[in-house]
Amino acid sequence: MANVSLKHIYKVYPNGVKAVNDFNMDIEDKEFIVFVGPSGCGKSTTLRMIAGLEDITAGELRIGDEVVNDVEPKDRDIAMVFQNYALYPHMTVYENMAFGLKIRKVPKEEIHERILEAAKILSITEYLDRKPKAMSGGQRQRVALGRAILRNPKVFLLDEPLSNLDAKLRTQMRSEIAKLHEKLQTTFIYVTHDQVEAMTMGSRIVVMKNGVVQQIEKPKDLYRYPVNKFVAGFIGTPQMNFFEATLTNEGDKVRIKFLNTTNEILVPDEYFLKVKPEYIDGKTVVTIGLRCENISFKPEDLEGADALLNVKISHLEELGTETLVYGDLNMDGDGFTESNTRVIIKASGEEEFTKGSVVKAAFDLKRMHIFDKETEETILPRLPKEMALPCEVRANKLILAGNEIALPKAMHTADCDGKVIIPVEAISFGGELMTTVVKVEQVNKQYLNYLKLNDRYLFVVTDEPLELNKEISISIDPKMMKIVSFNNEVIVDSLPLINHIPAKFLKVKELDTITGKNGKLKKKHVFNFKFDVEGVIYPSPDTISKKVIGALDVKAFDSPYSIDVSPYDLKIASEGIPAEVEAQLDYGTEHFLQVMVNGNKYIVRSDEKLEGNVHLALDINNAGVTETKINMKLV
Ligand code: ADP
Repeated sequence: MANVSLKHIYKVYPNGVKAVNDFNMDIEDKEFIVFVGPSGCGKSTTLRMIAGLEDITAGELRIGDEVVNDVEPKDRDIAMVFQNYALYPHMTVYENMAFGLKIRKVPKEEIHERILEAAKILSITEYLDRKPKAMSGGQRQRVALGRAILRNPKVFLLDEPLSNLDAKLRTQMRSEIAKLHEKLQTTFIYVTHDQVEAMTMGSRIVVMKNGVVQQIEKPKDLYRYPVNKFVAGFIGTPQMNFFEATLTNEGDKVRIKFLNTTNEILVPDEYFLKVKPEYIDGKTVVTIGLRCENISFKPEDLEGADALLNVKISHLEELGTETLVYGDLNMDGDGFTESNTRVIIKASGEEEFTKGSVVKAAFDLKRMHIFDKETEETILPRLPKEMALPCEVRANKLILAGNEIALPKAMHTADCDGKVIIPVEAISFGGELMTTVVKVEQVNKQYLNYLKLNDRYLFVVTDEPLELNKEISISIDPKMMKIVSFNNEVIVDSLPLINHIPAKFLKVKELDTITGKNGKLKKKHVFNFKFDVEGVIYPSPDTISKKVIGALDVKAFDSPYSIDVSPYDLKIASEGIPAEVEAQLDYGTEHFLQVMVNGNKYIVRSDEKLEGNVHLALDINNAGVTETKINMKLV
């Protein structure tokens, strides 16, 4: 039994393929984790790195409390089951199962007992005397599972174990593996390209694409709250319907215009509170997603529905208890080919439909998804990261929803109209802005609170829900605010929270004093690792050197890096990196200096009103290190 933790895990194959890109996850003891995604997305590579069959380019892998990057596969306490079960054909099932234990010199009686126990769990007791060729694929795969069970591992790794089996057997083995997990109470990590397998087996699912984790979520939440169009389309059959549309603000309503159709609806703006205003401008094309079960023809759903649309029915798939109705929102569309107007609707098997007819359908907007057409990210996130609110600047006061907020000196600018972008974490309780709690949503273990500031909404994430209708005073951290024009040109930027300082990694031959065998001190040449940061040499801490060389090997000395350090960790000192003060940034309660080093701009927290030449002190032990050519976060 063990937890598995992956921190900034990367895999770059020698041919340059970046198969896994910054994989981060904490897998708890006894979880059933499924890695899912299309072929080539990096699932197997990740699993093989956990197994120790593939070197980890960068990052830290722990099984239990131990870092296992350099631990041999056989010492990792894992068992792996592959798609090809690789049984020895000349041995019986019993001998196949006993083989590994015999090699490890487990006593004969113990082997016998453990095989009988495993055979019982997998219902293969009656086949123990058979040779593999006299068994079906499903039975052979069970033997392979049996071999894995016998090792009594802390973690089970399964790589597409069912893909050689026919559909019926796959369904059966699926529930058997789930049962096995239940019985063994061990951590399982399972790789598949089949989303149904993932949804039915996983306690949590990791969706991957092009080496990048897209989302990690429980099956139900993954289905209900996909973070992007890829996940939305990958999970669920039939696939989610996607339509292109524009959104226009009309008072307390929003008009949705479905492109390439005559369908237009006016709906309450409460469905769009999380959507940034730039998307509700009547021009920007967005992708609206709705699953087939969230569209209905039933009279009780049509009555009082917020969104009624005309659908031209093209054809039906009658499946007995339910009927999949294919149609188009475009009256000239054919409903057969996938398009941004084609719609699939799940109706009950009792309902009758006429091909070619045009009928009204109710769209359940509470279940609606909206994606940015370009980035494909959701613009209706469960937990918004930031808000964008219309604002004005007049005489260095920010006018936001009827409130005046004095801008600190560092943000002074000419009068303008635009939007202010506010990260959710910029809001804190206590302050001069009065808001009312109007809505609270639970999201996993946190709460999203909607605070109404006159006619606008602000979001705050808390661990305990705020009381509904309560008046709450808040303040907004000015240094995190960004003011932009309506065309998204930056007028006043937020203060960068991280400085990226370019650096080189060096191996330096130095004369060192060491204690010899006879106890006497003597001089000896040694190699030390250093960072050249803006021309100043810093010793590289051992932990960092190990990670850099582990990831890049000999290329470590030719690669470019950035040392990533917050303004709070970069200090003004009497010696260090020579810099020139360009500006004193006054944020009211906090002060910073903007300094230049070799044409690069950095921010330093300092209350001193300094000018001219200064030095910057850097604590590499508290800094992040990123390789900047392939963009790999090492520390
Ligand atoms: P999946 O298991 O999701 O199908 P893989 O982890 O097998 O994906 O592969 C991820 C990517 O890495 C693919 O682009 C694949 O071509 C590449 N890849 C896999 N193994 C190697 C290898 N030994 N050498 C180079 N590239 C590889």
